[in-house]
Amino acid sequence: MIDTHAHLHLINRNTEDVLAAAKEAGVYHVVQVAIDLPSIHRNLNEYALMPNCSITGGIHPLSVFDSLELDEVLAVLNAHVEAFVAIGEIGLDYKYGKDNMALQKIFFESQLAFARAHEKPVIIHSRHCDEDMLNIVNQYSDVKKVFHCYATNYAFFEALEGDQNYISFTGMVTYAKKGKVINAMRKVPMNRLMIETDAPYLIPRGVDVAQNSPEHVGHIAQHIADIREMSFEDVIDQTAKTAQSFFSI
Ligand SMILES: [Zn+2]
Repeated sequence: MIDTHAHLHLINRNTEDVLAAAKEAGVYHVVQVAIDLPSIHRNLNEYALMPNCSITGGIHPLSVFDSLELDEVLAVLNAHVEAFVAIGEIGLDYKYGKDNMALQKIFFESQLAFARAHEKPVIIHSRHCDEDMLNIVNQYSDVKKVFHCYATNYAFFEALEGDQNYISFTGMVTYAKKGKVINAMRKVPMNRLMIETDAPYLIPRGVDVAQNSPEHVGHIAQHIADIREMSFEDVIDQTAKTAQSFFSI
């Protein structure tokens, strides 16, 4: 299995131990996702050197502040672009960032344009912003995108233009057997799905730990298998192939 989205730098355990436990559980690769400038630098200096680990670079919408210089962000991304398997996570968050929407959009669009210029896929964080999100991403239909921690309906996926759109599910889905997100899980083409933990957040149902970690990503695969009436093996095979091709790993 591949955990396509984790924040190892936010887990309060030794990273080698975390990755070893993941490997033991059958998780042979982890995509370590940046959220701000300090985590981009840690990715480059620490996580890029770890086995079975790929890194991304990008500014999360809730890490966007007036004092953050967009030029500096783009210069850092540009200097290390070859090290990143994706630009992310980037996006919009109108639930917790309502006071900051205009600046979030500027950072989001600039990083999308950067990804386009460098032919990199993007990892998108999208919360309570479906309409603005669609208006923006449909101007970048040629950029490969994964909507991480997918939390909206199937209609959103259908409204995305182009054939470069992917979605990934977290442990959040393991708490539901019906509803709009589960309906999307059932309907989105299998070759557009990926699995992720978003560790240390979103502990899957039935896992009794203080913080989530990549070793638990199989619970999401099992839930997709149950909902789509497929075997667990088929889900982990197909989502891994999709992740390998999406991130070129
Ligand atoms: Zn995340």
